[in-house]
Parts: sequence; C-alpha cells; structure tokens
Amino acid sequence: MAFYHADVIKDVLTERVRQHNKFGYQNRPPFEWFLILSEEVGEVAKECVEMQFNDASHPHSNPAAYRKELVEVAAVALAALQNFDMRASSHAKPIGL
Ligand SMILES: [Mg+2]
Repeated sequence: MAFYHADVIKDVLTERVRQHNKFGYQNRPPFEWFLILSEEVGEVAKECVEMQFNDASHPHSNPAAYRKELVEVAAVALAALQNFDMRASSHAKPIGL
C-alpha cells in the first residue's frame, strides 16, 4: 500500500498509461470528459456505499477497490486536463502521454 505522494502519483500515471493503451488517444469536448469522469466518480460512490454499509445487503466491501477507483478518477481527470490544454493550444494535434 502506498503512503507517499510519489507512490500515489506513480499509481495514477500507471493507470493513465493503461487507459491510453486501452482507448488510444482521445480528443473530446469537455462535456464528454465530464461524463466519463462522472461515471468513474460514480464507481467511487458505489465502493463507498459498500464499505459504509458492509452488511448482508452490501456484502462486497472492498477497500482496495475503493482505492483503485480513486486512482481511475485521477487518471481520467489527468487525461481530460491534458486534452483540454492540447485543444486550447494553437498546436491542436495529438501529443504523447
Ligand atoms: Mg472505475
């Protein structure tokens, strides 16, 4: 388990690369990024509910899954930020990670 900023950032960058390899370069308007990010935040919410109500009706409490979803949120936010900056620049063409 990572407890230092560098470890957390490494996890986020690893996830960012994984997402890039899975989905490729994505040039999207802000509202589409918002929807993707919201979907990921919703998955964090689900894991929170499972942990909070770890009982017979919510038997899937998984703190590791909660952390994984947070990393995914951060990675998607990073992708959205990179794409926003790229779209705002005069060099509107795909860039690397
Ligand atoms: Mg997710």
